[in-house]
Amino acid sequence: MKNKKISIFGKVFAKILLFAALIVAMLWCLQTLLLDNIYKEIKTSRANTALSAVVKNINTEDDNLYDTMYDIGTYYNVCIMVFNERFELVASVESEPRCVIHALRPSQLVSLYTAAVENGGTLTDKWDLVETTSTPAELYGGKPSASFVTESIVKVAVVSDDSGQERIVFVNSLISPLTETAETLKVLLLWISGAIFFLALLVAFFISRSISKPICKINKEAALLANGDFDATFSGSDSREISELSDTLRYAATELSKAESLRRELIANISHDLRTPLTAIGGTAELMRDFPDERTGQNFDTIISEIGKLTKLVGDVMDLSKIQSRFSDMSVTSLDLTALIDDVVSSFAADARTCGYTISFDHGFDSENNIFVLCNEAGISRVVQNLLSNAVNYLGDGSSIAVTQSLTETGDVKIEVRDDGEGISEEDLPHIFERYYRSNKPHKRSSDGSGLGLSIVKSILDAHGSAYGVSSSKGAGSSFWFTLKIDKNV
Ligand code: ADP
Repeated sequence: MKNKKISIFGKVFAKILLFAALIVAMLWCLQTLLLDNIYKEIKTSRANTALSAVVKNINTEDDNLYDTMYDIGTYYNVCIMVFNERFELVASVESEPRCVIHALRPSQLVSLYTAAVENGGTLTDKWDLVETTSTPAELYGGKPSASFVTESIVKVAVVSDDSGQERIVFVNSLISPLTETAETLKVLLLWISGAIFFLALLVAFFISRSISKPICKINKEAALLANGDFDATFSGSDSREISELSDTLRYAATELSKAESLRRELIANISHDLRTPLTAIGGTAELMRDFPDERTGQNFDTIISEIGKLTKLVGDVMDLSKIQSRFSDMSVTSLDLTALIDDVVSSFAADARTCGYTISFDHGFDSENNIFVLCNEAGISRVVQNLLSNAVNYLGDGSSIAVTQSLTETGDVKIEVRDDGEGISEEDLPHIFERYYRSNKPHKRSSDGSGLGLSIVKSILDAHGSAYGVSSSKGAGSSFWFTLKIDKNV
């Protein structure tokens, strides 16, 4: 079924475009909301500076005053009028056609002067100029396009020159942005928005592709793995996360391939091990059917013994799979380990007497008290049982089996099962805990064993987090050991 979810490419692409759209929207908001205020701020501040400059140069000779005022007026783009104490105009600069002060009647100028004197010598007054623009359409009989308000600021200062004579200064400036300025900014912003979108498209495409490409590649390889192709390479990429994902998948591929070959080996081994006793049972039974003389006790024993082997094999296979699936949530209790080992060792006493070997248990470091451990009772009992059965099975010419308990450096209890039997060759030693270990194929197991005893031991001890191991050499006996956590509350 085709997945309808949006691809990583699409998601990243859309997010980058959204980001670009947000930036553009922000620019337009700034332009619409703030341009007017910022422009007014700047123009008002320039009008203030212009007024200060006029006041500073108020003592300039009357002949040169006009030139100085003209420089100030054109530099700050303001209109200036300077009057003497008789209200005679001594300098005038009209740098803006929509100037308010030059359009005022003398009486209005006097009123502004009076208000400034009452206000302590300075005054700021704002004027709104309503203008109507004409469009070419209107010129040819169309509608008037728009009327808008232009704000104008008038500043008045009443000062005395060095000779103590009064001078009245009027400074006027338009503080609303000009239509042309606003239009220019709008066009500029349109171009900037277009450029941002174009760049965002390019960047979004390349970034999305660089992110999605390695993931798509790994996905294809993972699909091969899912189809059972364990040779999938999972080539990494420049980014850490993707190369970690490649490593993990490569590891999973190796593990899956191992599990697969183990599964095949297990099936082959079980089939082989089932066939041998079945053939023996079938052969003996046929013999007994065809030849009444062959219905001997010995042949019945053969059949019973082979059925026993089959039962043990099936039991062990079932146990192993049960242990492996169930031990993740096994119940752990406080167990009298010393008593448990005593019981298992005692169960071998009769066999030891019959077969002529000795079996002992040395309570070791705490011979007075029994040791309690935190573990799964059935599991640990099975471990001790299997190790002792193996010691007996592979005793060969040996004659003694000794179980000891001691204390490790970390304060755990260490159980050791030592025998002086046939031992294990250096070559086989690292593999004996594997299921159905075979050296140099043919099957390396004793004919009585299922080949799963030590695998069961390993699974149980792994589930307990125990340390375990073996030391052995051919002809010199073996020593299997494992550790368990002591229950300190007992
Ligand atoms: P099996 O059913 O064959 O005993 P195990 O998993 O119990 O299977 O043991 C794996 C192999 O390890 C055995 O086939 C044997 O070769 C070797 N082994 C285990 N215990 C001993 C021992 N005490 N002495 C010598 N060899 C041993």
